[in-house]
Amino acid sequence: MDSITANDSIIHFNDVCYTSLNQHLKQRNFSKIFILVDENTHQFCLPKFLNNLETNAVVEIVEIESGEINKTIDTCVGVWNTLSELNADRKSLLINIGGGVITDLGGFVACTFKRGIAYVNVPTTLLSMVDASVGGKTGVDLGHLKNQIGVISNPDLVLIDTEFLNTLPKNQMRSGLAEMLKHGLITGEDYWNNFLDLSKLSLNDLDELIHESVIIKKNVVEEDQFENGIRKTLNFGHTLGHAVESYFLSHPEKPTLLHGEAIIVGMILECYISSKMLGFPQETVSEIKELFIGYYGKVDINKDDYSPIMDLLKYDKKNDYGNINFVLLKAIGEPKLDSIVDEKLIIEAFEYYSK
Ligand code: NAD
Repeated sequence: MDSITANDSIIHFNDVCYTSLNQHLKQRNFSKIFILVDENTHQFCLPKFLNNLETNAVVEIVEIESGEINKTIDTCVGVWNTLSELNADRKSLLINIGGGVITDLGGFVACTFKRGIAYVNVPTTLLSMVDASVGGKTGVDLGHLKNQIGVISNPDLVLIDTEFLNTLPKNQMRSGLAEMLKHGLITGEDYWNNFLDLSKLSLNDLDELIHESVIIKKNVVEEDQFENGIRKTLNFGHTLGHAVESYFLSHPEKPTLLHGEAIIVGMILECYISSKMLGFPQETVSEIKELFIGYYGKVDINKDDYSPIMDLLKYDKKNDYGNINFVLLKAIGEPKLDSIVDEKLIIEAFEYYSK
């Protein structure tokens, strides 16, 4: 699979990853290499990575605890302190091996430590391969509010070794797939049609689809890195999806909801709203709802949840001048930005979802 250049990063796939990394290390002659992992990527991904790493530089492993709950500024302080204690300097390199939590947090740590050191991302979940790997968004959560603190900054390299997916739990695979489904809905039938029978998707098909999803995201992000226009299309399903995710995160009595699982709910809701506001075909909404709920199951959201979920919309990063801006669809592949949606219609969408 061809390597992809996106903004200031180069994204390599599978075998090419390690030769390109080793070449990069040789050229840049880093003073020290720090590898950020969590306990899972330490166990499942680090051994293969180290086996393929060729360098004379000192390599230090820094481990943090896995999970969104640890994507905080406190964890960053811990990593900054460790880097400092281990004498990281401005010529050091940070390699982030993990899912979106590690690459978001590690990217933020790297681009703020000593005003910025070089970093490489090695996404090891499907979600981080097709989404978090491209576009330069780094950052952490603020309490239960997702991604409120961060900067846009690009790693030198992104290394996508799809073999890492072999150890990824099934629910995490499904969560990543949600972003690929979103890529289908916002770009058009050609890509979307790959997903009409989710039960038939195999890991083999996935390699090509991952490559294609990365290209889709890269094309959007390159045109609009700072999210003034077309990049907002990537937020389809995310306005309500993020609110649902934040709500579930702050209610430990509710079942755990992964990012992609929340985005699936958000996409069903926003397809419904699209049908009422922009004429997105109602029949397609029903098909999408059936496909998504058939594969992901239905999340239990009841009437009492609607209002606190809607309260969370005011923290959405796409808001401006106090307005909550939605990305909606006129048709598959035809997104429309900056729609303002009436609260009553949002409630109606929740009722449609729960029906
Ligand atoms: P995650 O990073 O929490 O990883 C999920 C779980 O899988 C973790 O327990 C992790 O330890 C484990 N894991 C990772 N790789 C593994 C492997 N190969 N084998 C076995 N276990 C493995 O979750 P995620 O879904 O990858 O990322 C979610 C985060 O990404 C969220 O914080 C979200 O905000 C962020 N995100 C960022 C962007 C961006 O553009 N920067 C885009 C989308 C999502």
